[in-house]
Amino acid sequence: MSSFLITGGAGFIGSHLADALLKNGQRVMVLDDLSSGSISNLAQVRSEERLEIVPESIHNRGVLAEMVDRADVIFHLAARVGVFNIIESPVETIMNNIGGTEVVLKAAQKKRKTVIVASTSEVYGKSEAVPFREDGDLTLGPSARSRWSYAASKLVDEFLALAYWREFRVPTVVVRLFNTIGPRQIGRYGMVAPRFVTQALSGQDLTVYGTGRQSRCFTYVSDVVEWLLLLASEPRAIGGVFNLGNPREITIEDLARRVIAVCDAKVGIRYIPYEQAYEEGFEDMERRVPDISKVVELTGYAPRVGLDEALLRIRQWMETERVLERSARFKYTHA
Ligand code: UDP
Repeated sequence: MSSFLITGGAGFIGSHLADALLKNGQRVMVLDDLSSGSISNLAQVRSEERLEIVPESIHNRGVLAEMVDRADVIFHLAARVGVFNIIESPVETIMNNIGGTEVVLKAAQKKRKTVIVASTSEVYGKSEAVPFREDGDLTLGPSARSRWSYAASKLVDEFLALAYWREFRVPTVVVRLFNTIGPRQIGRYGMVAPRFVTQALSGQDLTVYGTGRQSRCFTYVSDVVEWLLLLASEPRAIGGVFNLGNPREITIEDLARRVIAVCDAKVGIRYIPYEQAYEEGFEDMERRVPDISKVVELTGYAPRVGLDEALLRIRQWMETERVLERSARFKYTHA
C-alpha cells in the first residue's frame, strides 16, 4: 500500500482521484481549505480508515510538511480556478497559485517525493497551432487583460516544477488539463458544463457567451483520473509535460444544444456579449484542442467516456443529489 497526498482533494477532480485511489487499496490524505471544494464530495468514502481529511490551507507550512513527509506521491491540485475567480480576485488567484505550488515543491524537496502538478490548457492562450502540442509555443494575451494572469500563474507553476526536477532532482510531472467535466463540478466560478445543465434542469434558457462558435474539448473526469494514476507510477513521465484531454471538439453553441437534448429541456439559448458576462475587453480563446499522442503513447490509455454520456452523468448527479434544491441561488446572473 502506498500513501498519496492530494492537495485540493475535496474538490471536483481531487475527490474523484481519492475515490479511485481508495478503491485500489491505497492510503489517501486530503489537504483542502474547502474554499471551493466540499467535504460532501468525500461523503461516500468518509468512513474509510485509509482516508484522512485535513481541512487546512496548503499555506499552513507545518501541516503541509508533515503530510508530505508521510506521502509517497503528491498530487498538487489545490488552486483557484474558474474565469470568474480570476476576474474578481486576481491578486488572490495569482498569489495562491504560485505560492501554493512553491510551498508544495519545497516540502517535497526534502525527501524528493514525486509531485504531479496540475496545470491547464489555458497556458496555450490564443495559440492557433491546433491541435496543441506540449512542445508548441504559448501565446498569451496582454497583461492588462486579467484573464491571462491565470495562464501566467500556472505557467510559473510549470516552470517551477520542471526547475525543481532539473536543479534538485525532485521528481515532478506537469499535466495540462483540458476542460474536465463530471459530477461534483460546480458552475459558480464559470465552468460552462455544470452551468448549462443547471439552467436546463431548472427551466432557464442556456446563456451562451459571445457567438457560441468558439469551441472546447470536454474530458470526462474518470478519464483524467485514469491518466493521473498511470502517470504517477510511470518513471518515464518524470520531468515531462502532458496534455490530458479528449480531442473531440465541439462549439459552445452545439454543447448547449446537446445539453438541452440530454436534459429533455424545453428551453432556448440566449446569447450574451462577453463584456456583459465577464468584463470590458474580455478575450476568449477560439479553439482549444489537445494533441494527446504523448500521454497515449506513454500510458497506453485513451479517453473512453463520450460527451453525451458525460452530460447524462452530470444530469443524474444533479438530480439524485438534489443539487438545484440545495443551492440557495442557482440562477446565474450576468449583470
Ligand atoms: N461559457 C458560456 N456560458 C457560460 C459559461 C461559459 O457560453 O455560462 C463559454 C465561455 O465563454 C467559453 C466556454 O464557454 O467560451 C468555456 O468556458 P469555461 O469557463 O467553462 O472554460 P474556459 O473558458 O476556461 O475554457
